Amino acid sequence: MDLKQYITIVEDWPKPGIRFKDITTLMDNGEAYKYATDQIVEYAKKQNIDLVVGPEARGFIIGCPVAYSLGVGFAPVRKEGKLPRETVKVDYGLEYGKDVLTIHKDAIKPGQRVLITDDLLATGGTIEATIKLVEELGGIVAGIAFLIELTYLDGRSKLEKYDVLTLMDF
Ligand code: 5GP
Repeated sequence: MDLKQYITIVEDWPKPGIRFKDITTLMDNGEAYKYATDQIVEYAKKQNIDLVVGPEARGFIIGCPVAYSLGVGFAPVRKEGKLPRETVKVDYGLEYGKDVLTIHKDAIKPGQRVLITDDLLATGGTIEATIKLVEELGGIVAGIAFLIELTYLDGRSKLEKYDVLTLMDF
């Protein structure tokens, strides 16, 4: 299936000069969403995943159906102040902004093989921060899966040590 046809490019959003890749037009097509999810599930099986971790909010959209299909847990990574219990946190730089990401301190058991999911790899800042959180808790980043990679931003160079799956390149 050609998944790219389901991505809508939105010019100048959320800021002038940005060509936003809108994945909602993929998600609201049942066949396309299932196809994309199944590709990541197959990958996750090969990587022997124990747990899926994804940053808010689109990392949940990708990661939760994968976790459900595998019968493993999902641990959310969220912006500061959103998780109710004790967290670890990390500062990170976005393609257009700066922020803090957090995860519950007990979300990962040391040695668990973790799949990190997000919708899109741009500069790699979000995923680099998510990796730091997983590793700080003793998790092994056994795979990272995205729907989309913006190859011209070279986020991959931050992920050289890791196994990465992307379903579409722009
Ligand atoms: P990075 O941290 O790799 O620079 O940016 C990736 C993060 O920003 C992802 O969490 C992703 O959801 C969001 N993002 C950046 N640009 C886009 C885009 O064009 N489309 C979508 N759907 N998300 C984007």
